[in-house]
Amino acid sequence: MHDPYKALYLHIPFCVRRCFYCDFDSSAIPQDNPAIDEYIDGLCVQIRRNANEGELAQIETIYIGGGTPSFIGSSRLTKLLYMISVSVRLENVREFTMEANPESINECIIKDIWALGVNRLSIGVQSFDDEVLKILGRAHSSSEAKRAIECAQQRFENVSIDLMCGIPGQSIASLEDSLVKAASCGVKHVSMYPLTIEPHTLLNNMVLAGEFPEPDEDEQALHMERAESILVQAGFSRYEVANYALPGYESAHNVAYWTGVPYLGLGRSATTMTQNSERRGRIRDGIVLDDLNKSQMVAEDIMLGMRLAKGVSVEDIANASVFLPALQATLDELCADGLIVFEEGRYRPTHKGWLCGNELYGRIYDLAP
Ligand code: SF4
Repeated sequence: MHDPYKALYLHIPFCVRRCFYCDFDSSAIPQDNPAIDEYIDGLCVQIRRNANEGELAQIETIYIGGGTPSFIGSSRLTKLLYMISVSVRLENVREFTMEANPESINECIIKDIWALGVNRLSIGVQSFDDEVLKILGRAHSSSEAKRAIECAQQRFENVSIDLMCGIPGQSIASLEDSLVKAASCGVKHVSMYPLTIEPHTLLNNMVLAGEFPEPDEDEQALHMERAESILVQAGFSRYEVANYALPGYESAHNVAYWTGVPYLGLGRSATTMTQNSERRGRIRDGIVLDDLNKSQMVAEDIMLGMRLAKGVSVEDIANASVFLPALQATLDELCADGLIVFEEGRYRPTHKGWLCGNELYGRIYDLAP
């Protein structure tokens, strides 16, 4: 027996080409490759099967990610979205996001996905600087990004964009220019992630060959600070370590991930989190990623709460302390070290805590026996 899934994630593992830093599960294949049709057919079968088993009855948020969902084109997306619309009670779905990249956004896709229930578009812009886009190996230019945002806004009121920072070769002036453009183009949400060099990526090979410098941590911290300063001044609030929203536009689907809400992932490399009152487990492609006991679940909830600006309430701490007797002492130490702060009945992460996230999250999670 498990608690009902409230969030649904669907993975589309195809892109027009591989970005140099990418370690997501995605293949660059021609758009007319029949493997994409077979994949979408398989995904539709999975959606139907889960609907028949009652697993989709209480879904409140849906996220189609990738890869590049917009790459597969309007007719395949229409098939997929139609299957979702007859399998999930869309009147109960408060947020339905699809990811898209600028080079594959067009009027036809925008009109079709909007008509079939998608109500939030997340666009992978990464930068408004063509030189930085070249360093990352992105398939679009800054002018295409601007055009794509405007095109999306013809139907979508709720548009989010992703940006990246801390990229070797990206000056502070370039970053600031991208942030100012992001803040003034009418989007409601901005995600800002520092570049990380992952194994098995082209950038990693270049770093190993001495052809590309490793990102500088101090530079990345400076970029994250500038992002906060510019976006907050423009009316966005930093509600999570890497996410900014205008009031009321925080991503409900992503918040579900950070607040212990069970989610079902369908498609290749999609993760499913299943839980009941005693255990929580994650599974991907049939492989168990983790299997948490009650203490570990509770520790994870407190740890994830520290990703959010609102932090964790004293009531949550009192409940968690039943399973984590050393929690209060650890929170006191984290306060003394400046990683969190106690104010208005909540423990919240500080800027230092977010910058030293691994230490903050690790010291909380390590409390679980
Ligand atoms: S668009 Fe996204 S998923 Fe596709 S290759 Fe680039 S980073 Fe990877």
